[in-house]
Amino acid sequence: MQEARIAEIYHRVSNAYQIFSENGNEWEANGLNSTPFKNLVAAALSTVTHSKRVIRACVALFAVASTPEEIAKLDDDRLKELIKPVAHYNRKTIQLKEMCRQLIQRHGGEVPATREALLALQGVGPKVADLIMNFNFGGDAIAVDTHIHRMLNRTGMVQTKSAEETAEIINTITPAQYRKHAHEWLIQHGGLICTAKKPKCEECIIRDLCDYQKLASH
Ligand code: SF4
Repeated sequence: MQEARIAEIYHRVSNAYQIFSENGNEWEANGLNSTPFKNLVAAALSTVTHSKRVIRACVALFAVASTPEEIAKLDDDRLKELIKPVAHYNRKTIQLKEMCRQLIQRHGGEVPATREALLALQGVGPKVADLIMNFNFGGDAIAVDTHIHRMLNRTGMVQTKSAEETAEIINTITPAQYRKHAHEWLIQHGGLICTAKKPKCEECIIRDLCDYQKLASH
C-alpha cells in the first residue's frame, strides 16, 4: 500500500480515537498498568483471553500478591484459583511462577527495560514485550494482537499470515509520528468497528482507503 494511503489511515484513526490515558480505559481504571510488573503480568495473562476476564483475574491476584516475590511464594493451587478466569490458567500458573523466579534471579525483582531481556522471560512473546516497552519504557514498537492483525490485513496495509509477521511489517511502514500510540488507535478500531465476524464497514472512517471493500465487491 502506498505511503500516502497509510499516512491518511493513521491521520484519521488518530483523530477518531483517544489514547488509553485519556479515555478511562478499563485496564488503567483497574490499576493493571500501575507498575511495570502488574502490566507485564496482565499482558502475559491476556493471550487468547477477553480483556474483561483478564481484569477480573488481575484484580483478584493483585489484591493478594502484586510483586514477583509475593507471586513466587503463592501456592500453585491458590494462584490457579486466582487466575482461573483466563484461558489456559493451568499453563499460565506454571509460566507466571517461573517468570517471577526469573525476574528475581536475573533482575533483582525488577522488570527489565529491554525487548531482548523481556523476550527471554517465561511466557513473554513479541506482543507482550512490545506492549511493555511501549507503555512502560517509552518505546514506540507497535504491539500486534489478533484484532490489529485482522484489521491490518483487511485494509491491505499488510498481507500476512501471523500477528508476528504483521508486527514486523507494520513497525517498518508506520510513519514515525504515529508509532507511539498506533497500538491504542488500531486496537480500538479493530475491536469496535473492524470486528471479527462482521466488520461495520458502513460506519468505518477509513472505508474509502480499505482494500476489503474492493475485494468484497468482486
Ligand atoms: S472498511 Fe470494513 S474491513 Fe475495512 S477497516 Fe473498515 S471496518 Fe474494517
